[in-house]
Amino acid sequence: MVTTLRTQGLTGPAETFDTVNPATSEVIATFPVFGEDDVAEVVERAHQAGSWWARLEAKDRRTRLLAWKSHITRYIGRLAELVHTETGKPLADAQMEILLAIVHIDWAARNAHKVLRRRRVSSGLVALNQAATVEYQPLGVVGVIGPWNYPVFTPVGSIVYALAAGNAVVFKPSEFTPAVGAWLVSSFAEVVPEQPVLQLVTGGGETGDYLARSAVNKIAFTGSAATARKVMAACAQNLTPIVAECGGKDAMLVAADADLDAAADAAAWGALSNAGQTCIGIERVYVAEGVYHSFLEKLAERAAQVRPGDDREAGYGPMTMPSQIDVIEQHIADALARGARAVVGGLASVRRPFVGPVVLTDVPEESALANATSYGLGASVFTKNKKAAMAAARSLRSGMAAVNSVIAFATVPSLPFGGVGDSGFGRIHGADGLREFARPKAITRQRMKPPVNLTSFSRSDKDLKRALNMATMLHGRLYK
Ligand code: NAD
Repeated sequence: MVTTLRTQGLTGPAETFDTVNPATSEVIATFPVFGEDDVAEVVERAHQAGSWWARLEAKDRRTRLLAWKSHITRYIGRLAELVHTETGKPLADAQMEILLAIVHIDWAARNAHKVLRRRRVSSGLVALNQAATVEYQPLGVVGVIGPWNYPVFTPVGSIVYALAAGNAVVFKPSEFTPAVGAWLVSSFAEVVPEQPVLQLVTGGGETGDYLARSAVNKIAFTGSAATARKVMAACAQNLTPIVAECGGKDAMLVAADADLDAAADAAAWGALSNAGQTCIGIERVYVAEGVYHSFLEKLAERAAQVRPGDDREAGYGPMTMPSQIDVIEQHIADALARGARAVVGGLASVRRPFVGPVVLTDVPEESALANATSYGLGASVFTKNKKAAMAAARSLRSGMAAVNSVIAFATVPSLPFGGVGDSGFGRIHGADGLREFARPKAITRQRMKPPVNLTSFSRSDKDLKRALNMATMLHGRLYK
């Protein structure tokens, strides 16, 4: 894999790191650790590639992005295998993740021009003599720093929206999933061989830090809130803007009239799929008292049937990061010590590198809620009452909410994705996601001489008086 560096024309750093299959501990590949100068060199090349990419006609960018989509779709089996090997998630989950990424590539490619192109806006009465337009121009180079839990879907959510908006991208995948990152970058180079519009830098936190401090025009960061703070501090040096997609503590609300089978099914899948390593995974369920016991019974029944493993029938795989297993063990022990009751599993569910399903009830609020209040990523509401559902979904402090399902908002490419509080800020996906990677350019064009020219030293007292009279007429009315 060191060839990745050579094809980028760099002499390359000597230091390397291994990526490992979390189920078997087998080494998958070896990657270079990019140092400060290596990152700077890649970013410089990205600026050149970016000006070529930005100068292309919108339709030519669209064709190339759609060609990338088609390439990924045709090689989905190969990419899914790599995701499975590097993260440990079941092959079917890897395929589903890639399918969702494909939907976003398609949407971004097809909608970028419509969302970002120049459009006329009303110039208002005061500036009637001006024609006003706004357009969204590329920023230049976007640095994308990715996580490992969804190594295709998550970074592609930034990469393709940044590319569609006319930027070049330098991508630093997580040190746990560099092979998937390298595959994405080389597949793009196959369909866009002219310039290195999407480039790869590999390494750990330090490499990410170099990217944040480099001459990029924006950082799209996905990871933990703690790392987002460090990235923001690094970006502050050059006033580099950042979009931060961080973790969540998503809640599900189950009302008394909810379809309990559907809610239990969604809670089990929302919490356990991908070994619970989902930013928008369900972490807490609040159930109306009257249906609490029957919901719990249905959830426990479903959760108890799910089995982690490395085989085809397994519901989910191993924990991708070995260090996270200690954290889970501590959380279970802490909740149990504070009076929680394990309805399914318990401390014995931790069987490295796997963690079996655990459902805890009577968890003291401070074990669940105190951590949760600062986060606000996704949420889920189950009820048959449409009005109550919408009211609950709207009032939850989260960037997204799904009624009668989980994570559905991530599958709708026209919807913005992002959080509030410790879950981050800024948006990827949809029109907001495209504009996140563009700068609005406002232009006025004087169509005729103004009736009163206020922006001139030749302005007379009479001109000003006419303007004031007009303002009084337009804006001076009393409102009650
Ligand atoms: P992390 O914060 O440890 O690392 C994320 C990325 O940042 C990695 O590529 C890492 O190498 C890099 N990094 C680490 N230190 C850095 C530094 N000082 N400067 C620059 N880059 C640095 O997170 P992780 O464990 O890889 O990912 C899991 C987290 O991501 C969870 O909190 C999860 O909820 C969150 N997540 C959020 C979303 C979302 O869209 N909101 C999606 C997926 C994952």
